[in-house]
Amino acid sequence: MNAPTGKLASVEQYLKQSRKMLIGGKWVEAQSGKTFDVFNPATGKVLAKVAEGDKADIDLAVKAARGAFPAWAKLPPAARSMILWKVAELIDKNAEELALLETLDNGKPLAEAKAVDVALAAQTFRYYAGWCDKLEGATTQTNLPNMHAYSLREPVGVCGQIVPWNFPLLMASWKVAPCLATGNVSILKPAEETPLTALRLAELMLEAGVPEGVFNVVPGYGHTAGAALSGHDDVDKIAFTGSTEVGKLIVQAASGNLKKVSLELGGKSPNIVFADADLDAAVAGSANAIFWNCGQVCVAGSRLYAEKKVFDKVVEGVSEAAKKIKVGSGMDAGTQMGPVVSTTQFDRVTKMIEAGIAEGAKVATGGKRMGSEGYFIEPTVLVDVKENMRVVREEIFGPVLVAQPIDSIEEVARVANDSPYGLAASVWTRDISKAHQMAAALKAGTVWINTHGMLDTNMPFGGYKQSGWGREYGKESIELYTQMKSVFAQL
Ligand code: NAP
Ligand code: MG
Repeated sequence: MNAPTGKLASVEQYLKQSRKMLIGGKWVEAQSGKTFDVFNPATGKVLAKVAEGDKADIDLAVKAARGAFPAWAKLPPAARSMILWKVAELIDKNAEELALLETLDNGKPLAEAKAVDVALAAQTFRYYAGWCDKLEGATTQTNLPNMHAYSLREPVGVCGQIVPWNFPLLMASWKVAPCLATGNVSILKPAEETPLTALRLAELMLEAGVPEGVFNVVPGYGHTAGAALSGHDDVDKIAFTGSTEVGKLIVQAASGNLKKVSLELGGKSPNIVFADADLDAAVAGSANAIFWNCGQVCVAGSRLYAEKKVFDKVVEGVSEAAKKIKVGSGMDAGTQMGPVVSTTQFDRVTKMIEAGIAEGAKVATGGKRMGSEGYFIEPTVLVDVKENMRVVREEIFGPVLVAQPIDSIEEVARVANDSPYGLAASVWTRDISKAHQMAAALKAGTVWINTHGMLDTNMPFGGYKQSGWGREYGKESIELYTQMKSVFAQL
């Protein structure tokens, strides 16, 4: 156990009470009175009970948000900035507790929850706090005589925000911070597997002075609460992170009132190792690219392509690294990889491994369940795979790598791009022109050279092809949450 025992006891105490939802600044039960169970994936046991939102609760939240919108949008931007900065400070101040909640709920190692999820959530709020008073339109010359023309950047309005369970607090922050910074209001639907940090964030937002109704959290299931939010006629925008399959449902649901839609969806990202790479760095980087966060990362480097002459060496290296990973409860000191998030995800990943083997793939390492309680899966490397196999084409979202040898730069660009996804890709080589040629050839929203998984608040993030619509982070998120108005004045 690497958690301070006092903090853990207070988190356990906090979770004894069934958690309510936040609507219009009030903590309320679901209209139906229902709750749902939230599980600890390291034990499979119930961790907490949470109010189960549905259509009636979404209706109330939309009404509250609509009512709060005009005043929030009109607030001096520096005042919005101060509040969001305060949210960041409170996230930092409560980092230990937020990390514990995240680890208990999602399963990830506690040290990572703190150093990555919680720290970056605070950084995201600080970054967008800085944007509040820097929004601008333009004064533009036109071809029209005696015309004074300018553009105004205005908020979109009431935003529905639906997030997944792999980085619960961080994904919520990616959505909520730019939304509020630009004068919009939010209704957040966290993933049913991991609603706890979103609810704790909501408490901190109230403490920071976010006015009633500006931020609402309605936990519940996707097909009920999520569908009600994305289909709601008085919601102006829906922002979604999750699977491509559900992304398509969101688009259909949004078509009723043609609300704006932004989507961050799945991936099957190629990780390409050329023979001239620094192989030690490439091997360590490739292992980390697939096994970090138990492979439950939208940009996981889940397809490894290595040049023929180094293929065996790279696969051996990655398999050795896989065997050395310390798998266990996120609460245990030294754990490097936790369980997958849920029993559903456990079944999905193990069935995909079986399907790969049935189609002729060979297990280089891993492939099995670990222990008898919780949802632990061995870090797995599959070889002898073919381009048309399900394990190569479909997102597994678990600690499973498929590895294929390649002959040439032309071949690798073709096979790497042969996917409905286009979220990310990485290239390992010492040849600078090859690196940049590949960066241009790869159809992906992010390309890494001699690294993997790097993101920054100031760099746009999103997908080509079926990996999404729009870009988050950087000034691109400001564009997602604002719309332009053109004003013409005859002089
Ligand atoms: P998911 O099933 O798509 O769920 C994501 C969110 O959507 C959850 O809050 C979910 O609610 C909700 N949802 C489900 N059905 C819905 C519906 N009909 N209408 C509205 N909302 C609905 O995905 P997941 O299994 O949680 O997460 C894994 C997937 O997310 C992977 O494919 C991964 O690549 C993708 N992902 C992408 C990114 C990115 O940035 N591109 C980041 C993280 C994850 P429930 O809680 O009830 O399921
Ligand atoms: Mg959970």
